[in-house]
Amino acid sequence: MSKNLLFNNSNRLYRILVRLNSYQKLTAHAISHGISLKNLAISQFPYLFKDSLEPPIVSLEFTNYCNLKCLYCTSSYEKRNKGFMSDEVFKKVFDSLKTMKPTRVQIVGNGESTIHPKFDKYISELSKIKHYVSIVTNGNFIKEDIAEKLVRSNIKLIDFSIDAGGKEAYETSRKNGNYDKVIENLLKLKAAKKKYYSDCVINIRIMVRPSQMGSYKKEMEFWKNYADRVMPQFLVHINNTEYSHDLFKPIQKNQNSFPKCSLPFKHIEVRHNGDVLLCYHSAYQLKNEAGLKIDNVLNKSITELWNSNIMKQYRNAHRTRKEKEMPICLGCSGC
Ligand code: SF4
Ligand code: SF4
Repeated sequence: MSKNLLFNNSNRLYRILVRLNSYQKLTAHAISHGISLKNLAISQFPYLFKDSLEPPIVSLEFTNYCNLKCLYCTSSYEKRNKGFMSDEVFKKVFDSLKTMKPTRVQIVGNGESTIHPKFDKYISELSKIKHYVSIVTNGNFIKEDIAEKLVRSNIKLIDFSIDAGGKEAYETSRKNGNYDKVIENLLKLKAAKKKYYSDCVINIRIMVRPSQMGSYKKEMEFWKNYADRVMPQFLVHINNTEYSHDLFKPIQKNQNSFPKCSLPFKHIEVRHNGDVLLCYHSAYQLKNEAGLKIDNVLNKSITELWNSNIMKQYRNAHRTRKEKEMPICLGCSGC
């Protein structure tokens, strides 16, 4: 199997088709919890719709500290300060979200959110004002009771990222990670769901490298024993980061072209210190950890940040293919 296979990360249709079964079920689940079909459709095919006046997905980085040191993690290339989201930033985010229409709130970022000292308080509060709160985790929980707390917080989707290739490959890629512990935590979640009659969905994202293309589907069958859904996630090299061993190479990098990106149409991310960037890729594209910064939630509401001139410029540039107006996107894998 050839290494460094080219991959078009911004090909939404391919990404949907390869995960169709899981997407259908996750879509039905999100709709049953108040997320509109339009919100979900804009996230996948933004060019078919007018720009949304509010972000369909708000991502929150509770922290950029992590208990693992994965080989391909971009966090190790960042020089930005490590920290935890403060109560002040959280309150601003919370107040902004309260005024917004139903939207999806995703707890994710370049760190492991569950290690935030106020993790359970924050997710419980968010779940009270937003119907669809989800989290992406490495599943190596440090706190023993986190599985129960996740389920009891009324969170709707728990996304586990697990590397393909079995225990040895997992623990090689995910330094400090423990494969058996991840399985144990999945079982704890399953038990907690049963105990509290929770309809929260546990989804496993199998992180697939080019060399695993021939074997990952069989492995997905194994993981179905531990989760409600299993889907592949192809590991793509991020521009200007060092580690590229056995990762997909973005086709745009190879062709020196601009992707058709959906990120500025569907997603806004608040970093732990309240900073909001055009997108997380902007930090790598600009080779500058500050990225293309829009402003900070301490100064502006999420809706104002979403409708800022920079966000509008990049949305319009992608929509009309005005490459000069999206200079930082050259060679990016997009999304
Ligand atoms: S779990 Fe995620 S944030 Fe933590 S080191 Fe691995 S890739 Fe990075
Ligand atoms: S840098 Fe441009 S192409 Fe890359 S993710 Fe951001 S908006 Fe999309």
